[in-house]
Amino acid sequence: MWNDRRCAGCGTRGWSPCHGCVVTLLAAGPVDVEGARKTEALLDYVGVTRDLIHSFKYGGARDLGRWFGEAMARRVSSDVDMITWVPTTARRRRERGYDQAQLLARAGGRLTQLPVRRLLRRSDADPPQTGRSATERLRGPRLVSSAVEGLRVVVIDDVVTTGTSAANAVTALLHRGALSVDVVVIARTPPPSRSRSR
Ligand SMILES: [Zn+2]
Repeated sequence: MWNDRRCAGCGTRGWSPCHGCVVTLLAAGPVDVEGARKTEALLDYVGVTRDLIHSFKYGGARDLGRWFGEAMARRVSSDVDMITWVPTTARRRRERGYDQAQLLARAGGRLTQLPVRRLLRRSDADPPQTGRSATERLRGPRLVSSAVEGLRVVVIDDVVTTGTSAANAVTALLHRGALSVDVVVIARTPPPSRSRSR
């Protein structure tokens, strides 16, 4: 019921995210993923954005996927032919009951009317990023793509930190013939700044 809903950012009863939280969200600074024609992030991964994404990924707040996904859809270039996403691990999908990036892609597809296709598969059975060594995380997941000859593809993901997951997705798609690959994410982790580390 609507009455039982609470903002995933602050816990206030009502819409999630509530207006009070939305106005505090910080627009993302520049972000670049290697090989991508363009990379777009909505928000910086700080403050309430972190809370919202955490609720979306780990707290079962699936409804946030629609909210984020529709905002991301507005960043998709008009010449794109197809939407896909960076798949999460099978284990995580089982644990959560959903693949968060797939939810984002579907919401984006509904708004843009573009086809949403599962093009990428993980070719490894790695545990989730948080359980991996620093070296493994630097390499990112091994991804393979279906054939996408002559198509302009946009890849959806949740957060870009080092950018290796997204870059691996871009490489896999280009390898299978994509004409261009764009990346759109909810948030980017801002680079460490002197003012923040003080
Ligand atoms: Zn709130």
